[in-house]
Amino acid sequence: MRKPFMAGNWKMNGSVSHVKEFIDGFSVPEDISQKREIVICAPYTLLSLCAEYGKEKKPYIKFGAENVYWEPKGAFTGEISVGMLKEAGCYCCIVGHSERRQYFGETDETVNKKMNALLEGGLLPIVCVGETLEEREAGRTEAVVLGQVKGSVLASAGAKDLSGIVVAYEPVWAIGTGKTASTAQAEEVCALIRGLLNEALGKEIGEGIRILYGGSMNPGNVDELMAQPNIDGGLVGGASLKPADFSRIADYKE
Ligand code: PEP
Repeated sequence: MRKPFMAGNWKMNGSVSHVKEFIDGFSVPEDISQKREIVICAPYTLLSLCAEYGKEKKPYIKFGAENVYWEPKGAFTGEISVGMLKEAGCYCCIVGHSERRQYFGETDETVNKKMNALLEGGLLPIVCVGETLEEREAGRTEAVVLGQVKGSVLASAGAKDLSGIVVAYEPVWAIGTGKTASTAQAEEVCALIRGLLNEALGKEIGEGIRILYGGSMNPGNVDELMAQPNIDGGLVGGASLKPADFSRIADYKE
């Protein structure tokens, strides 16, 4: 049984006052953590506050970062290590988000190194994959997405225990655009990812890995998306900044 994983990605948004307003305003049944994991990934400078204020007010919310570097320390100006994220109270970290692949030169190889460093350090990696509109229209969705899963995740098969990772399928054309993939499109690609994970890692591991959908998930479409057999959660950008919207998403109806 895969525990649903509802994660917010604040990107480069938020502030000290927003953290407090968000945590105060977030409202779901107190016992939600028994059936779902709820996570907010926030900018580095807000993480300690998130962890401290969250622990006091809403202990069932977990926090994570949006990126990490794979080396443990040293002369890497501007970077941050897994150990630093742990010290700030993180539980998980996004790697390979399409905005990082697009604007900051992330490749499957660097994403894979980051995933490995997170696994070695004991933080849960959320590894993102997804095709652009151009790639979809050229009929290359399956090749691109499965290629990213192979390069970013399965490159470590045999060397790392991949059973605890989370994979997020985020069609690039649906991120921040208000365009959601149809439920059928989202399920189709998540099922392909599941098939590849099963084939490469064996069913016991592949069936246990949570696959999220991301791309304009909102209170209006979450119930239908979450009803799909291979969608185990959401990676939510814009709507995760609004406490009422993210509360409804986390408390989606089965
Ligand atoms: C994201 O940033 O991962 C994302 C899915 O954004 P949005 O929900 O705003 O499309």
